Amino acid sequence: MTFRRIFTSFRNLSKLSTPPPMSWRPTGKLQKTLASEVSRSGTGLHSGASTTAKLLPAMAGEGRFFLCCSGTGNHGRSLLRIPARIDWVSESVLCTTLSRDTDGVRVRTVEHLLSALEATGVDNCGIQMVAGDEVPMLDGSARGWLEAIEEAGLCAAKDQNGDTMEKLEPFLNEPVTVWKNDSFIAAFPSPKLHITYGIDFPQVSAIGRQWFSCSPLDYSVYAMEISSSRTFCIYEEIEKLRKAGLIQGGSLENAIICSARTGWLNPPLHFHDEPCRHKVLDLIGDLSLFSRDGHQGLPVAHVVAYKAGHSLHAKLGKPNPQLLSIVTSNFKDLDAKLIGAMPFQLEAAVMPAVERVQSPGCQACRK
Ligand SMILES: [Zn+2]
Repeated sequence: MTFRRIFTSFRNLSKLSTPPPMSWRPTGKLQKTLASEVSRSGTGLHSGASTTAKLLPAMAGEGRFFLCCSGTGNHGRSLLRIPARIDWVSESVLCTTLSRDTDGVRVRTVEHLLSALEATGVDNCGIQMVAGDEVPMLDGSARGWLEAIEEAGLCAAKDQNGDTMEKLEPFLNEPVTVWKNDSFIAAFPSPKLHITYGIDFPQVSAIGRQWFSCSPLDYSVYAMEISSSRTFCIYEEIEKLRKAGLIQGGSLENAIICSARTGWLNPPLHFHDEPCRHKVLDLIGDLSLFSRDGHQGLPVAHVVAYKAGHSLHAKLGKPNPQLLSIVTSNFKDLDAKLIGAMPFQLEAAVMPAVERVQSPGCQACRK
């Protein structure tokens, strides 16, 4: 059965039920923010420019947002706020970009930093771009951001009245799928967050087909299994990308590079399946953009992605306007009745189909 037919079956199944596509439940935890400021500088992967991002504590309910310089003009330079939310994502290649189109202001390559903030529970955070319009690449992973967050420390966030706020998490009630050609992302209702990712590079034997799966996604799993996975690049594609104005700041220090003919150029890898783990890192950063008002961005679901990328990650929310409207609704008015039982059997039903496409020799997805 093709993936398209599998998804069509699930869409027909979902029409039989009427719960809203997403609902929210309390986590029993308070929203958090950084206890102090911390900044990191480095090179922007695509711009090649030296950039600095300063992470700032923020109030409960503010969520995560970038503060970007408006440039020069009649009224001088000012800091403009770009919320780290899916409806501010603009089209971009090989990275995730947030834009204020009306002001011509943008910030590029936000995914690794947002991944670390989401995974460590920094629910409210201002990110001031002190220099440049691209988040520093550091070593190509999220490890440096994790260390910066640990250096700053976390504390309970308070609103302007000095009150704390409980953190909510979004539950997926119906399957959601997006695909392009043979790439897809499917999210299925699940009692806990579970991510399964597959990549396939048949022309690059050193990478080949890889699967990685993780659950639960707590701090230790993220820190030990995911955060230090670096971005990767195919050596034979570098010239074409550079001519397109991309990866101007790419180097052997901020990416692992693999040749189709000779294999990895800068070993050792941090994991044998480091490319696939990095895709999970990217996915967490991109799905963090579901976050609203300091609540969790990652949907509690089993998310299965195959040969996906940043644009498909973003489309998981954008082609589902009902889903997006639920995400953007006022949390204070949510009906507790929406928090109900999930059709868990759907996940059980899809797993045999997912397992059929797994590489028979890969054990990572069965951890
Ligand atoms: Zn990445």
